[in-house]
Amino acid sequence: MSTEPQTGGRVADGSPVVRLANVNKHYGPLHVLKDINLEVAKGEVVVVLGPSGSGKSTLCRAINRLETIDSGEIYIDGKKLPAEGKELARLRADVGMVFQSFNLFAHKSILDNVTLGPIKVKGLPKDEARKQALVLLERVGVANQKDKLPAQLSGGQQQRVAIARALAMAPKVMLFDEPTSALDPEMINEVLDTMITLAKEGMTMIVVTHEMGFARKAADRVVFMDAGQIVEQAAPETFFTNPRSDRARDFLSKLI
Ligand code: ADP
Ligand code: MG
Repeated sequence: MSTEPQTGGRVADGSPVVRLANVNKHYGPLHVLKDINLEVAKGEVVVVLGPSGSGKSTLCRAINRLETIDSGEIYIDGKKLPAEGKELARLRADVGMVFQSFNLFAHKSILDNVTLGPIKVKGLPKDEARKQALVLLERVGVANQKDKLPAQLSGGQQQRVAIARALAMAPKVMLFDEPTSALDPEMINEVLDTMITLAKEGMTMIVVTHEMGFARKAADRVVFMDAGQIVEQAAPETFFTNPRSDRARDFLSKLI
């Protein structure tokens, strides 16, 4: 029998991939992240839920240091995220991010979108980056689009390219901030399926989404945020059937 701590049904192997300790963030007078403590174990899939404006995007952006924080610490794979410098760039490469708006380079081909980071940031030789990109594009089902420009692809395809692009940096954790919110309904599932496959392959993931089906199916743990705080966290079946806080009950009652 393993004596390792269990997290969301999966065995954690040592230190968490992501750890936030007493993280606070203000926008002027607005306290958007209030003393956030969160640990995400290797291979764990954490779904972050909460009403609009509760701080979910700010949380993601803080983990990727797209936003500074006012106090507290963020650790990626045991290493503290510094405020700036080379070490920050290195640690940031360990954190893949997929946004609601696909954020692809509009004037670069699909293939170039995926190879650019590995070539520029990781110094990967061009042909190696290309080989790797083709494998990733194949994995997300858009390899046949490799020579097109982003605008020539559907939203669902573009978002899958964005996932491939993030994976090309071999991140230790993938952050998804409402990755399907900008998609037409018929394209949501192709992106969610890609994410579910990624989760099954053992990727550590933090996913902000309103897709409760995904949360039920893929999450090891649901983190519920409201007004800058983590109000409660639980396994999805527990959270959805038996939310403890009034705020979570209220949030769930408003979902269709
Ligand atoms: P969520 O993703 O849960 O909808 P956000 O993290 O985007 O929430 O926003 C949390 C709060 O911070 C909201 O009240 C939002 O208006 C505010 N906010 C977000 N970004 C900024 C910013 N750059 N400047 C000022 N206020 C911001
Ligand atoms: Mg948001």
